[in-house]
Amino acid sequence: MYGKRYPDWGWCWRCNQEVALLNATQISEMPEVISEAKRIRKAEGTDLQQAMNAAGKARIKHYEETTGCKLNFGDEEVGALALHLVSHQTRNYGIPCTNCGKLLRSSKASYCADCGFEESAQTFIQDRNK
Ligand SMILES: [Zn+2]
Ligand SMILES: [Zn+2]
Repeated sequence: MYGKRYPDWGWCWRCNQEVALLNATQISEMPEVISEAKRIRKAEGTDLQQAMNAAGKARIKHYEETTGCKLNFGDEEVGALALHLVSHQTRNYGIPCTNCGKLLRSSKASYCADCGFEESAQTFIQDRNK
């Protein structure tokens, strides 16, 4: 379904799809967007929008290739989407649902939005964040 299966997946409200979640190291390894856009703009004389698109596409491509997670987006949102990718982080999500195994949609969630299972697992949440 997703091509290469990645360990952590969660629902992203913005992307409106299930996405691969990264850890802090993987986030830090993503190609730069803002500074790269500035560099492209200077080197090639393109306008900011085009430079953001070029830099944004490079980050999105990197994300899709390393995770196997294909994102649905339009050309006009490339820059914004690229910056948003830092939100695809495991630590923004909760523990896996006891019932269906999907990550809860936030670290404060007490029920699973996917299967409706209710978690009474505050302690698990605390353990996981240690
Ligand atoms: Zn997203
Ligand atoms: Zn569930």
